[in-house]
Amino acid sequence: MKISLPNMDSLSVGLLVIGGGIAGTSIAANLVPDLKVCVIKAEEYAGFHSTGRSVAVYAEAYGSQVIRKLTKKSATLFLEAEAQSSCKILRPRGFLFIAREDQNESINDLARELSEEASLVTLGTNEALELVPALRKQYVSRALYDSRAKDIDVAALHNFYIRTLRRGGGQFLQSQSAKSIEKQNTKYRLSCNSFIITCKTLVNAAGAWADEIAQLAGCKKIGLRPLRRTAFAFDPKNWKYSDWPVVIDSEEIFTISRRRTQSLGLQQMKL
Ligand SMILES: Cc1cc2nc3c(=O)[nH]c(=O)nc-3n(C[C@H](O)[C@H](O)[C@H](O)COP(=O)(O)OP(=O)(O)OC[C@H]3O[C@@H](n4cnc5c(N)ncnc54)[C@H](O)[C@@H]3O)c2cc1C
Repeated sequence: MKISLPNMDSLSVGLLVIGGGIAGTSIAANLVPDLKVCVIKAEEYAGFHSTGRSVAVYAEAYGSQVIRKLTKKSATLFLEAEAQSSCKILRPRGFLFIAREDQNESINDLARELSEEASLVTLGTNEALELVPALRKQYVSRALYDSRAKDIDVAALHNFYIRTLRRGGGQFLQSQSAKSIEKQNTKYRLSCNSFIITCKTLVNAAGAWADEIAQLAGCKKIGLRPLRRTAFAFDPKNWKYSDWPVVIDSEEIFTISRRRTQSLGLQQMKL
C-alpha cells in the first residue's frame, strides 16, 4: 500500500541552526551572508523559552568563574550590536547581594570568591536600605553591591540578530520542530513540520532541549533537561522602584527584579 506523505518543501542550506533563541539567532546572524543559513524554532513566537523569560541583567559578578569570564567577554558583543543597530542594548541597573545575619558564612564565601571583582563594594544595612527601601532591616545584615551591572534589552538584541539574519539572506522559520535527523554521507537531512532541510553543518542551539536534538542526531546526551522556575509579578504601587538594583539573596533563594517577565512582550510579537 502506498502511504502518502504530507506535502513538504525542500530546502538546501550550508548551515542549519536548530533553536531560535538568543544563542541560535546570534550564531546565525554572525555567519550570514558568507553562508546560506536557516534557523528553525519549534514555537510560533520569537523568544518563547529562556530568551523571553530572563531577568535580563548583565552582571559580571554573577555565577561561577566560567560564567563570569563568559559574561565579561560578551561585553564587546553588546557594544557591537548597539553600534550596528543604533539601539541602546545595555542600561545602568546595579546588582545587590543581600544576606541576613544567619547567612554570614555564605556572603563571606561570596565576597572571597568575588574578591577580584573591582567594582564590588561591601555595604552595611543602612546603605543597602538606601538603595532598596522596601527591604526589611532585619533581613539585611550585610550586602555586596556591583554598580556596573546593566539591564539588557533582550527583545532589542534578539530582534537585531533576527533582522541581521534576514538581511543577510538567511531564513528564520517558526513553528518548525525538528522531527528527525539523518546523516547522509557528508550532509544532514532534517525533517520538521513543513520542510525537509539538507545542510552541511548543523548547529544544536535548542537550549534546555539540546539533548533531545543530540539524540535525534545519534549523539550522546549530556544530561540537560528543561526545568521550571517560579516568578510572581506584582505592581509595587507605593514604591518608586525604577532605579532599584536587582536584588539577590546570597544563597540564591530568590531574586527581586523590577522587570516584568519580558516574555510578555516577546511572545506576543510575531516576527
Ligand atoms: C528565569 C530565568 C532568568 C534568567 N536571567 C538571566 C539574566 O538575568 N541574565 C542572563 O544573562 N541570562 C539569564 N538567563 C539565562 C538566559 O536567559 C539563557 O541563557 C538564554 O536565554 C538561553 O538562550 P538559548 O537560545 O540557548 O535558549 P532558548 O531561548 O530557550 O531557546 C531554545 C530554542 O530552541 C528551540 N527548540 C527546542 N527544541 C526544538 C526542536 N525540537 N525543534 C526546533 N526548535 C527547538 C525553541 O523553540 C527555542 O527557540 C535566565 C534564564 C531564566 C530561565
